Amino acid sequence: MRNSYLCIALAHEGRIRILACDSTSLVQEARLIHDLYPTSAAALGRVLSATALMAATLKNEDEKILVTINGGGPIGTIMTEAYGPYLKGFVGDNTIYLKYNDSNKLAVGLAVGTSGYLKVVRNMHLKESFTSQVALQTGEIGDDFAYYFAISEQIPSLVSLGVLVDTNTQIKASGGLIIELMPGHTEEDICYVEKLQKNLRPISSLIEEGKDLQTLLKELFPDVKIIERKDISYRCDCNKKRFMSALLTLSKDDLNEVLKDETIELKCEFCNKKYQIKREELIAYQNEVED
Ligand SMILES: [Zn+2]
Repeated sequence: MRNSYLCIALAHEGRIRILACDSTSLVQEARLIHDLYPTSAAALGRVLSATALMAATLKNEDEKILVTINGGGPIGTIMTEAYGPYLKGFVGDNTIYLKYNDSNKLAVGLAVGTSGYLKVVRNMHLKESFTSQVALQTGEIGDDFAYYFAISEQIPSLVSLGVLVDTNTQIKASGGLIIELMPGHTEEDICYVEKLQKNLRPISSLIEEGKDLQTLLKELFPDVKIIERKDISYRCDCNKKRFMSALLTLSKDDLNEVLKDETIELKCEFCNKKYQIKREELIAYQNEVED
């Protein structure tokens, strides 16, 4: 399986910006880490693709994008984070396997639910952060991100996110496409994108056919110019110190409660790695950071 990657491209003399990714291997990695059932895998895969594409245009290496979705459906909370070229994420319930009866498609909207929110936090230089939140529209993720871009960023966008899941343990294809109408766009640009939207096949099917993104974008926009191409992958950046720092933010009473145990065991939600922190170790760390 080839490495996951994304492309940033411009078309129509810069009035249209296109972000596209092939996230197949990345979502496969997420599926293995979390033992995701098909609908859980499709939901997390779609959010991971969108998060990767949003992070693609960040200017600085230390900026992060955090996405949280909760629509009150059986999957619970979906959380993803992008930092540099790396992605990580998890879902509340990894065992969702729901389909729509009429189309036999994975029922992501039913799993996610529609009475809830999509929240995006842009974290800059570990200090400043900018939070924006919209109500979920369909829970199908693509529609919800399109709504987010329109409301929060005032960018009219076409968003296509898709994951093709095998019933065994394979992700057959996963990808994302965001087409943005940039400032200065014309009536013709709007018509062009609307026409495209009507005829656009799911991005995951196009990727499954083995098309690379450059070819795919050229078919959508004959004058497309790829300005950047970069590899992306699933990676968790957790470590013991981060967990100890989090414990030290607890209230005094809660911390004392935690310190009653000889060893504290914590699990990272993003990669399932377990950390054992000894009481003395935490106290020593507390003294170290307070000095
Ligand atoms: Zn981790």
